[in-house]
Amino acid sequence: MWSRYVAPERHYSTTELIKKEEETMLIVMKPNSTPQQIENVIQKIKEAGLAAHLSQGVETTLIGAIGETHDLPTELFEVLDGVDMVKRITQPFKLASRQFDPENSIFPIDGFQVGGNDIVLIAGPCAVESRSQILETAQAVREAGANALRGGVFKPRTSPYSFQGLGEEGLEYLAEAREETGMPIVVEIMSQNQLDLMTKYVDVLQVGARNMQNFNLLRTIGETRKSVLLKRGLSATIEELLMSAEYILAGGNKQVMLCERGIRTFETSTRNTTDINAIPVLKNLTHLPVILDPSHATGHSDYVAAIARAAVAAGADGLIVEVHPDPAHAASDGKQSLKPEKFAEMVKQVKAIAEVMGRRIAPIKKPVIAGW
Ligand code: PEP
Ligand code: MN
Repeated sequence: MWSRYVAPERHYSTTELIKKEEETMLIVMKPNSTPQQIENVIQKIKEAGLAAHLSQGVETTLIGAIGETHDLPTELFEVLDGVDMVKRITQPFKLASRQFDPENSIFPIDGFQVGGNDIVLIAGPCAVESRSQILETAQAVREAGANALRGGVFKPRTSPYSFQGLGEEGLEYLAEAREETGMPIVVEIMSQNQLDLMTKYVDVLQVGARNMQNFNLLRTIGETRKSVLLKRGLSATIEELLMSAEYILAGGNKQVMLCERGIRTFETSTRNTTDINAIPVLKNLTHLPVILDPSHATGHSDYVAAIARAAVAAGADGLIVEVHPDPAHAASDGKQSLKPEKFAEMVKQVKAIAEVMGRRIAPIKKPVIAGW
């Protein structure tokens, strides 16, 4: 009588499964590698406390190193004789990865949800310049349908002689604009010593492109429970952006939005080159919301609406757009700032695209002040 052999079931917890999948390194040997070279690699894998899995074809030899490989530099194997290349099979980022959390991260920011079906619009000037400028801009972008107000008070300027921002005075004006319009405020933090001041006033901490790899700042922000808008560095890869997000997530702060803001390429006709690819790629790799900044990505107000439309079509969860009542006299980034009426036009267009995508622009919370 036949008795069917049933393999004993092995139950893995989700975390174990992630570890199993993520912590793998693949070592590809050169076609003419010798048995001794292969043996040396296997020995090295074992010395590192990992399991070696050998797979030999006619010409190709692959060796898998399985175990705690995430801290292990690939160079450990790359330097060995007979090794052609070493590849991490799965992402080095964990908490940010979709494998870790297949569902989109959705979190509330005073008045709306980010990361869900609704697309959020963040708008405002590059920098807060005066009380009247920010109040006027706030009202205008709110009327056009913006969900949140942006405005820098500490500006990362290329030149130390350029306008550096109003500091706390600017935060007070932003707080007043929030009172008037009901919009939460998004402000860039440039260093750890601004944290106390910032957390007192702002709803979302923006980490600028130039600070994407300021790991101490990221760690400090990770310890707060403030929402974060993490911008991609000027020359950062998508993986580097995700590793930076990992610093914040590792501290227990899960409210992280990623922001594509254009990268440096050889092209000079625009300030940066919008990496539209980054939107679907990030949506695939991570559960975190993805926002696009068409202002810094293009550097020119004429191109902002087109790229905003493209971003929504590509699956972005939101846009952050620079709007100024008088771009010609803006203290910073006037060239790429939209006049309020142009922003309103852009909102109409992205609304239509959102609809085609089966989404909608997040509805606005009722303004605090009655009468408009
Ligand atoms: C900004 O948002 O005004 C800004 C400085 O952006 P980035 O860090 O993307 O250059
Ligand atoms: Mn700017």
